[in-house]
Amino acid sequence: MKKLQMVDLRSQYLNIKTEIDKGIQEIIDSCAFINGPAVQTFQKSLEQYLGIKHVIPCANGTDALQVSMMALNLKPGDEVITTSFTFIATAEVIALLQLTPVLVDVDPSTFNIDPQAIQRAITPKTRVIVPVHLFGQAAPMEEIMEIARKHNLYVIEDNCQAIGSDYIFDDGTMKKAGTIGHIGCTSFFPSKNLGCYGDGGAIFTNDDDLAKQMRVVVNHGMTVRYYHDYIGVNSRLDSIQAAVLNVKLSHLDEYAAKRRAAADFYDQAFAINPKLITPARYAKSTHVFHQYTLVAKETDRKALIEHLTDKGIPAMIYYPVPLHMQKAYLDPRYKPGDFPVTEHLCETVFSLPMHTELEQDQLEFITSSVLEFLNP
Ligand SMILES: *Cc1c(COP(=O)(O)O)cnc(C)c1O
Repeated sequence: MKKLQMVDLRSQYLNIKTEIDKGIQEIIDSCAFINGPAVQTFQKSLEQYLGIKHVIPCANGTDALQVSMMALNLKPGDEVITTSFTFIATAEVIALLQLTPVLVDVDPSTFNIDPQAIQRAITPKTRVIVPVHLFGQAAPMEEIMEIARKHNLYVIEDNCQAIGSDYIFDDGTMKKAGTIGHIGCTSFFPSKNLGCYGDGGAIFTNDDDLAKQMRVVVNHGMTVRYYHDYIGVNSRLDSIQAAVLNVKLSHLDEYAAKRRAAADFYDQAFAINPKLITPARYAKSTHVFHQYTLVAKETDRKALIEHLTDKGIPAMIYYPVPLHMQKAYLDPRYKPGDFPVTEHLCETVFSLPMHTELEQDQLEFITSSVLEFLNP
């Protein structure tokens, strides 16, 4: 059996080596390292794939979130509502821009932001909602957009974990996750569902004015060469990363199918076990399984993870600490107990290896090792 990893980037590379090596070599030969044709090709292909008018490539997913907020003309103290159960980047950029993060709890089955909790958190200072499509499944966007319309708020989708997921509206129409709000953000960090070989990110929007403004922000606030009308940042996707992404975008749907097949295998193995809750499927979104995350019930999670580690099976906790209990984000507005669902999840969830190259014998070994611990 091949060695188990949370994400096996090497095996994936070996399957697309010819295309990747050719793409990277072409960039080196052309020396068009920044903003070369590969970046433009990728931008167009991603616009087409997502069915969106504008894709603005940038340096990483964190920048994508920051640039989105910089383009919205917000002022210090404006409130941004987001989830207490996410990767830190979401809240980090809010704090960096001197906006006020307002946290809300999540749905216990999908782990995604709870629209009713959003509704309760709205104040006259609220300007933006940032739902995170956690672990590969979209948040309830129809409800969120309805709240945003009612209160005249912007919606920025943190789609760093769910690129390729389809959102199915009540009337049966579909849109890609990340293209429903005013702005969508994604990351091309190597282990993400569409990962490059370094750092990368992108912003999506259908709004011409926002797109224009975000293109200015990512390029030092420059409107005409060496004329700077805004304070911006330097955030670029480089051509070598774009070359990798051009290859991997053409495999994205096939990769999602492979992740789903692995998830189905896990689901079946764990279905009737009373000590595990398998990931819920939200009816309005296809799941692209950035992570396969279980809830351990009345089980010693730490001992389970140690048992797996001893057998060479990596298992991770995404995320061990709720945002309001992170040292840098401690805030007199919040105390332990304020977000009971998030706090419970941080104490009970764990994620098993999930990637595009999982093999049958590996899946069997992982599931039998988990079950051996639960039912000795
Ligand atoms: C990965 C991730 C980010 C940040 O992306 P980077 O490219 O690492 O900056 C932001 N939000 C979520 C939910 C993520 O998973």
